[in-house]
Amino acid sequence: MAAVAAVRQMEDEPLLNAGIGATLNSDGEVELDAGVMEGAGLRAGGAACLRDVRHPIDLAVAVMEDGRHVLLAAAGASRFAREHGLEMCDPSIFITDRKRQELLHGADTVGAVARDSDGHLAVAVSTGGRTGKLPGRIGDSPIPGAGLYADDRFGAVCGTGLGEAFIRLGLARLMVIELQHGMDGASVAKGAIDHLGQAMHAQGGVILIPREGAPHAAFNTPAMPWAMAQ
Ligand code: ASP
Repeated sequence: MAAVAAVRQMEDEPLLNAGIGATLNSDGEVELDAGVMEGAGLRAGGAACLRDVRHPIDLAVAVMEDGRHVLLAAAGASRFAREHGLEMCDPSIFITDRKRQELLHGADTVGAVARDSDGHLAVAVSTGGRTGKLPGRIGDSPIPGAGLYADDRFGAVCGTGLGEAFIRLGLARLMVIELQHGMDGASVAKGAIDHLGQAMHAQGGVILIPREGAPHAAFNTPAMPWAMAQ
């Protein structure tokens, strides 16, 4: 799946807050979250609080494909990853030098939305979460409806920013409902960010791809690099 391949690649980029180079929690450790959703059958998988899974997005896919559960966390998630033959690693490999971590404060989650030539939609997200978060904290990124959502009938979306706000607003689901009701993609993306700012005084960004037409992005952070490929 293209969205997963893009996110997997970004998990290896030390400048981004996912996989290698992820931000540190208040104990100075890395705990990673990732999520994936397919718009065709509304299948979804999430993995959270991971310390030793080399590619969190691979585990999210394995959870989705297994199908029994939507979200696995912590030690049970690691055990599931091992049992499914996923690459494991020493937790220290995710921690790049401390200075860079400090500079990274504010660097965001990575995510991708995709539509294939048959019109099937998918979304994948991976993150180290928020800098200085409490150990055990889980953000929006592995939670369908909060940090990601995909439904072939309407669109696929994902977000970055204050996860607690995305969870409380159910923001990803809300955006897809707005697409369902016929709102255009640009207004949905902008409206979501306005809502995030006004209702939660939070910062963040979203990307979306509607069932038809061009993808859109919006953010109220100083920057949010995004790219589009065909
Ligand atoms: N949304 C992510 C989280 O709250 C972090 C981020 O995008 O900065 O876990």
